[in-house]
Amino acid sequence: MNLQETFGSLVFNDAVMRQRLPKETYRVLHRTIAEGRTLNAEVASVVANTMKDWAIEKGATHYTHWFQPMTGITAEKHDSFLSPIEGGGAIMEFSGKELVRGESDASSFPSGGLRSTFEARGYTAWDPTSYAFIKGDTLCIPTAFCGYGGQALDKKTPLLRSMQALSHQAKRILRLFGHNDVKRVIATVGPEQEYFLIDRELYEKRKDLIYTGRTLLGARPPKGQELDDHYFGNLKPRVAAFMREVDEELWKLGVSAKTEHNEAAPCQHELAPIFTTANLATDHNQLTMETMKRVAAKHGFACLLHEKPFAGVNGSGKHNNWSMSTDTGMNLLEPGETPGENAQFLLFLVAVIKAVDLHQDLLRISVASAGNDHRLGASEAPPAIISIFLGDELEAILEALEHHSAYEAGQRTEVNIGVKTLPRIPKDTTDRNRTSPLAFTGNKFEFRMPGSAMSISEANVVLNTAVADVLMGFAEQLEKAEDLRAAVEQIVVDTITNHKRIIFNGNNYSAEWKEEAHRRGLLDLPSTPDALPYLILPKNIAMFEQQRVYTGEELHSRYEIQLENYCKVISIEAHTMLDIVNKEIIPAIMNYSRQAAEAALSKRALIPDLQLPCEEKLVKQLSILLGSISAKAEALHESVLALSNVDTPLHQARHCRDSIFLAMQELRCLVDEAEMITDEKAWPFPGYGALLTTK
Ligand code: ADP
Ligand code: MG
Repeated sequence: MNLQETFGSLVFNDAVMRQRLPKETYRVLHRTIAEGRTLNAEVASVVANTMKDWAIEKGATHYTHWFQPMTGITAEKHDSFLSPIEGGGAIMEFSGKELVRGESDASSFPSGGLRSTFEARGYTAWDPTSYAFIKGDTLCIPTAFCGYGGQALDKKTPLLRSMQALSHQAKRILRLFGHNDVKRVIATVGPEQEYFLIDRELYEKRKDLIYTGRTLLGARPPKGQELDDHYFGNLKPRVAAFMREVDEELWKLGVSAKTEHNEAAPCQHELAPIFTTANLATDHNQLTMETMKRVAAKHGFACLLHEKPFAGVNGSGKHNNWSMSTDTGMNLLEPGETPGENAQFLLFLVAVIKAVDLHQDLLRISVASAGNDHRLGASEAPPAIISIFLGDELEAILEALEHHSAYEAGQRTEVNIGVKTLPRIPKDTTDRNRTSPLAFTGNKFEFRMPGSAMSISEANVVLNTAVADVLMGFAEQLEKAEDLRAAVEQIVVDTITNHKRIIFNGNNYSAEWKEEAHRRGLLDLPSTPDALPYLILPKNIAMFEQQRVYTGEELHSRYEIQLENYCKVISIEAHTMLDIVNKEIIPAIMNYSRQAAEAALSKRALIPDLQLPCEEKLVKQLSILLGSISAKAEALHESVLALSNVDTPLHQARHCRDSIFLAMQELRCLVDEAEMITDEKAWPFPGYGALLTTK
C-alpha cells in the first residue's frame, strides 16, 4: 500500500478542491473555511457539482447529510444522485442547495422538548470546515442539525459556536501582544480512544453485551489484570491484523490514526490519532468508533466501546488532549523562549486554570453518563472531582509569581520574577501523573474523564466556552490598562491566588485527596443525577448565553435529554438483566441442581448407607441461592415498575440510581455466587474467563 496515495483518498479535502475547483471558487471557499464565514449560493453550486463528479469517480451513487444528533452517535439519510429527466432517462445531479442544506424529519431524535414547542422539522446545514468524505457507496457531507428557529439539536452546532467564541476572545488577547496577523485561533484536539476486543462468537452468546454493551453479570476470573502483563505487551496476530485494517480504513478517510498499543486490562487496546481542529477531531472520532466496530466484525471480533464492559478490570476512557493554536501556527499553551512570550503563555495558562475552577460542574457534566459513572472514581480513572495537574516545575513558577519571590529553574539559574523578567520556562519538564482528571502535558491539557463511548463534543464545548469567557474578562481589563505588562502580571498573580485550589499534583486516587478536595470546597459529583442539575444554574446559563454557545432554552433541553438518557440506559439494563435471569439463569441453576440431586439419589439407591456431604451441600447451596435470586429478581422488577409513578426527570434519574441500579447490583452478587459453584458447561453463556482471553 502506498500510504501517501491512500491517506485522504476518500476525502474531498483541500488538495482535491485546489486541483478540481475553478481558481476563483477555490479561493472564496478556502477563505470561507479558513475564516469561518458563511458560504454564498453561487460558490456552493460549483462546489456541489465538482464534489458530485469526484464522488461518482470514486464509486459513490448516493449522498447523505451526516450529522450528530444528541444520541451521541451519527445519523444519516441517504439520497441517490439520480434525477429522472423528461423522456424516461436520468442524470446524476447534486445541487448547491442539496449540498448546503437538507431537511430532515427528525421527530424521532431527542430534542428535550425543543421541537415540540417549535416546528416539528429540523434541517441540516453543511459545515465546510469538516471535509466531505466517502463511506461505502455514499458521499457523506458533515452537517450541523438545527430546528427551524435555529435551535441546536446536535453536538456539532454548539461545538462550532464555542470554537468561534474562543477564537474571538483569544484574538483580543493576542492583539494586545502585537499579533495583529492572527485571523483565527483554533481549538486543537487529539482524542486517545480505548476499547476492548473480544471474540465475536462469545459476544453473540451474551444478551447483556448485545443489548447494553456491558456484562451485567459475571463472576471474576482467577486471573484478571493483576500481573500487569497486558499493558504495552505484544500484539496477538489477529489483533494486529485488525489494527492494520482499521488504520488503513481511517487513513483513507483522512483520519491520522497513529499509535496503537495494548492497554492495562486484558483484551483492552488504544488508538490515538494526530491532533487536529476540535471540530474535525470530533467528527473523526465518531468515524473511528464506527470503523472499529465494522472492521472488528470482519475479523471475528466484537469491539466494545462501553466505559465499563467488565467489572473488576479497568474500564475505557477517551483522553481528550486540548490546546489552542493560531492560524499562523503558534500553540498558545507552548511555554515560550523569552520572557515576553512567557507572559502570554502564563496568561493563557491561568485562563485555563480559572475557567476550570469556575466551571468544575460543567466539565463534570460534559462527561456524565450512566456508563461513565462506573468508571469515574474507581481506582483506574480520575475521580469525579475536577482538579488540574501542572507538574512541580510549573507549580513552583506560579507559586514564586504569587509570592513575588525568586524562582530557581531546573538549571539552577536564578531568575528574579518581576514585571519585565517573567521566568524562562524549561521545556518538557512536566512529569507524568496518570491520576489527574486534567493534566498539563508540556504544551496541551489532557482531559482524562471523557468516557470511551461518548462524543467528545461536549467536553470541548465546555473547555472552549469556559476559557473564552475568562479570556473575555482578561481582555476587557487589559484593553483599558495603561501599563500592559504590569496589568498582565497582576492578572496572572490574582488568578493564581484566587484559583490555586483547583491545582493538585498528588495522587488523585487516594482517600486523602478526596478529604482535601472537600476541605478546599471543590465539587464532588459522583453520579450523573448529582451533576446534571448544575447545567441550568444561572451562572452557567449566563456564560453560555454571553458566549453565544447555548441559549437558556437549549441548555434546559439538554438537561432533560441527558436525564432521560440516563434513565433509559438503566431501564434497558434492568430489563435485560431480568430477561437473562428469568429465562437463562434460573432455568440453568434449576437444571444443574436437579442433576446434582439425581446423582445423589441414584448413588444412595446403590449404596443406601453412603454419606453424601458434597452433593447434598451443593444442592442445598444452589437451592438457597436460587430462592434469593428469584426474590431479588422480583424486587428488581417492582423497582422498574415503580419508575412510571415517579414525577420529573430528575426524580426518575434518582430512582434509577438509588433503587433500580442498587437492586441490579444485589442481584448480580447472587448470580455471580451461583456461577462460582455451577458446572461451566451448565452455565448458559460464556463467563469472564473465556471472554477475557482472546486467541
Ligand atoms: P503523550 O504520549 O504525552 O500522551 P502524545 O504526543 O502521544 O503525548 O500525544 C497524545 C495525543 O495528544 C495525540 O493524539 C496528539 O496528537 C495529541 N496532541 C499533541 N499535541 C497537541 C495539541 N497541541 N493540541 C491537541 N492535541 C495534541
Ligand atoms: Mg496520553
